[in-house]
Amino acid sequence: MKRICIVGAGFSGAVIARELAEHGLKVLVVDQRPHVAGNCHTERHEQTGIMVHKYGPHIFHTNDTEVWNYVNSHGDFIPYINRVKATVRGRVYSLPINLHTINQFFNTAMSPKEAIDFIKRKAHAEIENPKSFKEQGLKFVGDELYYAFFDGYTRKQWGVDPADLPASILKRLPLRFNYDDNYFIHKYQGIPSNGYSALVDSILCHDKIEVRLNCKFEELKEVYEHTFYSGPLDSYFKHDLGRLSYRTLDFEEIVEEGDFQGTAVMNYPDRHVPFTRITEHKHFAPWEMQQFRHTVAFREYSRAADACDIPYYPIRLLKDKNLLKLYEVRAKNEPNVTFVGRLGTYQYLDMDVTIRRALDAARDFLKEQVKI
Ligand code: FAD
Ligand code: UDP
Repeated sequence: MKRICIVGAGFSGAVIARELAEHGLKVLVVDQRPHVAGNCHTERHEQTGIMVHKYGPHIFHTNDTEVWNYVNSHGDFIPYINRVKATVRGRVYSLPINLHTINQFFNTAMSPKEAIDFIKRKAHAEIENPKSFKEQGLKFVGDELYYAFFDGYTRKQWGVDPADLPASILKRLPLRFNYDDNYFIHKYQGIPSNGYSALVDSILCHDKIEVRLNCKFEELKEVYEHTFYSGPLDSYFKHDLGRLSYRTLDFEEIVEEGDFQGTAVMNYPDRHVPFTRITEHKHFAPWEMQQFRHTVAFREYSRAADACDIPYYPIRLLKDKNLLKLYEVRAKNEPNVTFVGRLGTYQYLDMDVTIRRALDAARDFLKEQVKI
């Protein structure tokens, strides 16, 4: 029987493992961490009992019906709408920028039509094809809103001048001229009632899948017919062409009685505030909020990742993109290895896209097997 090795027990690895196991292949999944679910891992906070998203807050949102049905077949999802707030210069605003934000910020009571005209007059129409984050922001909302909500946050988050970042980063966010404050625009949105790790456990629960935790791929002695690798692409090649750069996050924990900030996510775009946001995890699970007397929140600080840090966000500046091209050629020529996931392809991927790509990678592999 063919034996396949999968590196990483995050969504990429788990979904591929399950798809191959369902088709009769024997699969070993290894992860260097002591738990499954990769960066989506959730666990009960020891002191308070609250379910925390250990590597940062995760809200599932997608338009992909197959992916939505897939995750729902492995765990119950509770509908959850992500409503983010921002503290700017000592006042609290609604995000993403919507009619409420505009009226709050400019101290007005404009209607949608009035606000559209107002923002049109502020926005930099002369920027035809915005190439950078900064150009996109100025064309999108004009100077005042750009500098209040985007410039400082982005400098802290990415550690570079927004003029050096691609416009695509800001294109993730909507601008609305109504009072809809749903942070996402997708058809389906929710949070698994027992957390993401229980969901990934369910995906991995199959008699043809063996999971080895606390196990590095590099320690394996056996030879496998094929490997799916969801670790960092450059680390597979021992960084011999150089290191792809990442941002990492540090979390500062706050525990106190009651409610800390009254909401799950509060962004802090002001440049002089050293953290980017505070997340208070009991608000991600309103259905169990009454059980807890205490609360736990985390201040989130972003910085350049060193060799020993957890890589969170691929930076993808020009120098990284050039290096990535060289590694991609190596990856293509590496026999019997498929590189997958956020780290294996060095791309910022949301969970739903990760799952879609994993299903596709497994299905392509199975099709090839039939041909052989
Ligand atoms: P990972 O989850 O990183 O899993 C890779 C695994 O491989 C890790 O567990 C690692 O330990 C293991 N590994 C690496 N190298 C080795 C090795 N050599 N040997 C053994 N094991 C190895 N997406 C959303 O849809 N909604 C959100 O709200 C959202 N919020 C996010 C917030 C933050 C702060 C971040 C950083 C990401 C967020 N995401 C969100 C994206 C989400 O985290 C990713 O889509 C998802 O984690 C990708 O899964 P993966 O399996 O590709 O990678
Ligand atoms: N952003 C910002 N201010 C905010 C929120 C986001 O400037 O209050 C910028 C920031 O550069 C971020 C990008 O918009 O990386 C995309 O926002 P999103 O919330 O999608 O960030 P992510 O999910 O990447 O943390």
